[in-house]
Amino acid sequence: MKIYNTLTRRKEEFIPIEPGKVRMYVCGPTVYNLIHIGNARPMIFFDTVRRYFEHKDYQVNFVSNFTDVDDKIIKKAVEEGVDSTVISERYIAECKKDMEGMNVRPATTHPLATQEIGGMIDMIATLIEKGYAYAVEDGTVYFRVRKFKGYGKLSGKNLDDLQSGNRSLLVTGEEQKEDPMDFVLWKPKKEGEPYWESPWCQGRPGWHIECSVMSKKYLGDQIDIHGGGEDLVFPHHENEIAQSEAASGTEFARYWMHNAFLNIDNKKMSKSLGNFFTVRDISENYDLQVLRFFMLSAHYRSPLNFSADLMEAAKNGLERIVTAAQKLQEEKERVAEKPMTADEKASVDAYVEKFDAAMDDDFNTADAISAVFELVKYANTSMAAGIGKEFAAYLSQNLEMLCEILGIVTQKKEELLDADIEALIEERQAARKAKNFARADEIRDQLAEKGILLEDTREGVKWKKA
Ligand code: AMP
Ligand code: ZN
Repeated sequence: MKIYNTLTRRKEEFIPIEPGKVRMYVCGPTVYNLIHIGNARPMIFFDTVRRYFEHKDYQVNFVSNFTDVDDKIIKKAVEEGVDSTVISERYIAECKKDMEGMNVRPATTHPLATQEIGGMIDMIATLIEKGYAYAVEDGTVYFRVRKFKGYGKLSGKNLDDLQSGNRSLLVTGEEQKEDPMDFVLWKPKKEGEPYWESPWCQGRPGWHIECSVMSKKYLGDQIDIHGGGEDLVFPHHENEIAQSEAASGTEFARYWMHNAFLNIDNKKMSKSLGNFFTVRDISENYDLQVLRFFMLSAHYRSPLNFSADLMEAAKNGLERIVTAAQKLQEEKERVAEKPMTADEKASVDAYVEKFDAAMDDDFNTADAISAVFELVKYANTSMAAGIGKEFAAYLSQNLEMLCEILGIVTQKKEELLDADIEALIEERQAARKAKNFARADEIRDQLAEKGILLEDTREGVKWKKA
């Protein structure tokens, strides 16, 4: 199995630290809003990586954080006049709903930055003790970049180039930095911001330290794979390496994987250009399975362009696979007993091998999906010609296995009758009147799971099928 390692800039054979086990960490979103479709790309891709490792019988310990203390969260909390935990809790819950819709399984652990402050203080203290960090007068703690010999190894940046580019970074308030490249580990609180006690000042951590600390706590000093979007290579991941390796004295992550960006109509997605979509926006028009399938239709290191046409193509492609899978499920129950021939078995095995070969080659999901289409075509032709039970079951079992790796759901969704929906909505209204909000939310979620979206309007509750 080969993985392209950003650190060495080449594909390398994957050798786990511990045989049969994979320890991986993927930087998660900052929770101040609904996640956008760019954020969905690493979620879907790394979930597929995890599924493929599990298919290969690895035990995967997968950690992905939620950054729940950050300037943007605090700003939103001030705007709404609420505590910042209200904002972060709300958007973590919304993110989990989107993940479920995209069939992204929850990680083994989803740590929260605010719950790991003690560990961050400990690591910062270790860095100071070892001479890799220093506190200045106002209580800010900086990482001493020049002291860490490997700085720049991930991004390929040279310290002196960085230095000349960074002169302007000596902004007001940072005059006490020893070097413009030094980055913040801990900073003093500002009026109205959440803060924690620390040996240096009442304040909060810089962004980079949380990943080093959570990764160490849940996976150990050294991990197999660290992932995220390519924008994180510098400075975030470069700084994580500096912090983790300076603190532990050992290599941090052995394989660094970065997904390329998702663009919209060949332009960078941005709120100001008006081409910004949340995952929730997409769910108004599509089953989120389509978004997942769309994301996997390109190799993760290629930029991916999002457009209405490409989403339609993904929808049709996905339907073709799901229809064949469902037809096989029925066929294997319906057709007469008949043993499978050696040729039939060999043909199916060849498509599965092609799928595996593509995935083994740096998770080439685009080629893996081509192999699935070939298997589907072969299954359809075989079914049209008439097949026996054993062959139908074998086709079905293998297609289901490949769909499971890609995270494609092939089971038919149970359809709710309109009358059942109306009855549940009435029950929800009654629960709300009785202030039983837990039950009311439960009903809303139960309906959402079946693709029924509720809208509370002045004229009452309206519903529609997603
Ligand atoms: P953020 O909340 O900005 O820290 O992003 C969370 C994750 O989404 C990170 O791994 C980012 O690299 C990734 N990401 C953000 N925008 C995009 C995009 N347009 N395309 C692909 N990945 C993205
Ligand atoms: Zn991170």
